[in-house]
Amino acid sequence: MSSLVQAKQAIVAATVRRDAVAGPSTAATSPVTRGMFDQLMVPCFAPAPFVPVRGEGSRVWDQDGRMYIDFAAGVAVTALGHCHPAIVRALTEQAGTLWHVSNWLTNEPALRLAKRLTDHTFAERVFFCNSGAEANEAALKLARRYAHDRFGAHKLRVISTLNSFHGRTLFTVTAGGQPKYAAGFGPNPAGFTHVGYNDVAALEREFALNGDDICAVLLEPMQGEGGMIPGTPVFLQAARRLCTENNALLVLDEIQSGMGRTGTLFSYMQKGVVPDIMTSAKGLGGGFPIGALLTSAEIASAFSVGVHGTTYGGNPLACAVAGAVFDVINTTEVLDGVKARHSLFIEGLKAINARRRAFSELRGEGVWIGCELDPSGKGKAMDVVRAAGEVGLLLLIAGPDVVRIAPSLVISLDEILEGLARLETALTRALS
Ligand code: PLP
Repeated sequence: MSSLVQAKQAIVAATVRRDAVAGPSTAATSPVTRGMFDQLMVPCFAPAPFVPVRGEGSRVWDQDGRMYIDFAAGVAVTALGHCHPAIVRALTEQAGTLWHVSNWLTNEPALRLAKRLTDHTFAERVFFCNSGAEANEAALKLARRYAHDRFGAHKLRVISTLNSFHGRTLFTVTAGGQPKYAAGFGPNPAGFTHVGYNDVAALEREFALNGDDICAVLLEPMQGEGGMIPGTPVFLQAARRLCTENNALLVLDEIQSGMGRTGTLFSYMQKGVVPDIMTSAKGLGGGFPIGALLTSAEIASAFSVGVHGTTYGGNPLACAVAGAVFDVINTTEVLDGVKARHSLFIEGLKAINARRRAFSELRGEGVWIGCELDPSGKGKAMDVVRAAGEVGLLLLIAGPDVVRIAPSLVISLDEILEGLARLETALTRALS
């Protein structure tokens, strides 16, 4: 054997050694500051001035050791709080077992998760992906393809609602009813009509005019980003009826409302409607990126082999984590606990409001609450969130006038009370 071949073999042998664990590189341990974000990152976010480094339950600590009560859970993502032992176990066990296979193979955690989701919802088939937008993108493509194959190429119109939010891909910003997210990227996909949320007459009018061309109605059961506006049962049921009568598919976006956040596994379960397609993400992975589309076997058949796909969808790590999240959430104990927490939050918020008028309305379901600021605080939701950060509370907005609370489903009583006390201080700072 030539010395050149021997040298190459030695290089190959050295780089497959699994016993040699490299120490952390300098880059992995170098000091980090918030200022680096502005120097290094694409400026499409404006993060808070502190950098979180650790979380446990509904508490988060920053680089200086300051503790924050977490009423945000990311944005309604960490449904079981930070580092829940059941999901840490699922992740670490899976991390030592199998990380990734392509979709030319299947894997056990994905099939186990699909079984749980189909056993406990209307759905018979599941498609996994990596985010909410990607799940909605798949849902819209599936609805169009199904209509195309069954009824013809003319049936492509998607009805969605003004002020809705469905993600940031070009298809989903176009579906979303907030022009600011879709502006400047044109040409945007054609074939979308927006009607007012909860406007039954507008929906009926649209179907009367264009029923033959409509392939889907896409709705959030409650508009989250758009201001925490609950869908009325009469609107959701009218959408269901009109879809059925016109061979269109009802697509429910349960990316924020699902996985127990409203006190049932999915929100549709308490609205008297069953969708044809449903999307899930956020709480599904409890903080690990995963999205899912759920549907019937018949509709799913429009996605035959090669028609749609993704590299990471169904990743074993994500599905193992989501399986553990599912098992913790899908219990009477946790779901009833969400409803009990709702009452505690509303009671506490009303007490704050009685001491200092801050809110004109409190609305929402489960651990998903919108606090509409009183007209005197109009436009100041972000100021409240900033002030909350200063007093150790992580909080969200839903538009300029609504403070949104979306904590872990299993947040403790102590954390609720401590967080509400901090919220009251933040309101005083921001609104006086
Ligand atoms: N749909 C709804 C209702 C959402 O609230 C969101 C995110 O906030 C999305 C879709 C988009 O999800 P993602 O950010 O994971 O793409």
